[in-house]
Amino acid sequence: MSFAYAGGVYCAEGVSLEDVAQRFGTPCYVYSRAAIESAYREFAQALVSADRVRPSLICYSVKANSNLAVLALLARLGAGFDIVSGGELARVRAVGGDMGKVVFSGVGKSEAEIARALEARVLCLNLESEEELVRTDAIAKHLGMRAPVAFRVNPDVDAKTHPYISTGLKHDKFGVAYADAERLYREATARPNIELVGVGCHIGSQLTKSSPLIDAAARIAELVERIETAGIPLAHVDLGGGIGIRYRDETPPSIDEVVTSCLAMLGEGRHKVIFDPGRAIVGNAGVLLTRVEYIKRGEAKNFVVVDAAMNDLLRPALYQAWHEVVAVRPSDGVEDIYDVVGPVCESGDFLAKDRRLSAASGGLLAIRSAGAYGMVMSSNYNSRPRCPEAMVSGARAELVRRRESVEELYAKESVPTW
Ligand SMILES: *Cc1c(COP(=O)(O)O)cnc(C)c1O
Repeated sequence: MSFAYAGGVYCAEGVSLEDVAQRFGTPCYVYSRAAIESAYREFAQALVSADRVRPSLICYSVKANSNLAVLALLARLGAGFDIVSGGELARVRAVGGDMGKVVFSGVGKSEAEIARALEARVLCLNLESEEELVRTDAIAKHLGMRAPVAFRVNPDVDAKTHPYISTGLKHDKFGVAYADAERLYREATARPNIELVGVGCHIGSQLTKSSPLIDAAARIAELVERIETAGIPLAHVDLGGGIGIRYRDETPPSIDEVVTSCLAMLGEGRHKVIFDPGRAIVGNAGVLLTRVEYIKRGEAKNFVVVDAAMNDLLRPALYQAWHEVVAVRPSDGVEDIYDVVGPVCESGDFLAKDRRLSAASGGLLAIRSAGAYGMVMSSNYNSRPRCPEAMVSGARAELVRRRESVEELYAKESVPTW
């Protein structure tokens, strides 16, 4: 277990979270290297077991957790990367990631981002509109090269997840319509600076059933067949990410089950298969460690006011997401039902509601499953410096991003002289 109690204290691998709080302060994100490695290996193993011949690539979705330590760890394990901005491209480059294993997704790539990605020789740009094809063709021509592209196709399957993280339906902003895809591929062949290398899709996030992923894979396989029948050979099929994790009592399909069933849909073709998981790799590999400032007993509710807030972990406020909260040393607290809230001046600033917890002023709590879409969505709202991030490996803990200082918050601002 990456996060578990040992001797009555909650630990990350072999390090007590009390020690982490003492060394790095709170709030602080804490990641388990072993948890990230094992999730990645599970994925890689599933791909090999499902099909021993078909080439495959795991492009970790950088937006889930883009800390350099996480990216460097995954790059060492052989991962490629799914990026959505020039900033993420720079991060992958900063850790020496293999550009030949990078896929660039996103609905609004700027000219500069496309040019940088082409110059970096990424594996593929996943195009999301006809205008983006025209723009990419022009930039590639200017650079004197052929742009390796795929269309991100919207397979129009219902991912049955929270509407904010569903991306594969007709009314979603992502991808090109399934019905238009074949025409777009045919037309793109007329562009000398475009090289069609694959097809992509990504239907949503935190999927807790495998059926939408399998349906999408089947729809994409059918499309690939039609495109190839039209005389356009493709090298890869990118089935996206989106596999859910357990936050509370969800029973997401196993990685093995998803990979095996999706590959079965691809049939006998020997296209390289790409998955771009984010949450499934890092989600349960991190906690947000926070200290209780006050216990406030109200008329209708009891509140635990902690030093972490919605600016540190936005998911509860943004999606009503449920994160398990555990006391780091339960024996020190008083058990009751509490709302866990932060100091930010918004009623939406809560981390958990109506939880049975053992809490004490000055005690520590760990907000679990905070490794994905946690730190990356943090902000400085209420002029709160962003918290640090630490990585644990065995008995060692190291800071992988230091705490911001208050001065850094306004270092880029200035007051006009008039
Ligand atoms: C966000 C994203 C992913 C990762 O989604 P998870 O739910 O974190 O696995 C994969 N592919 C694309 C194109 C994305 O935008």
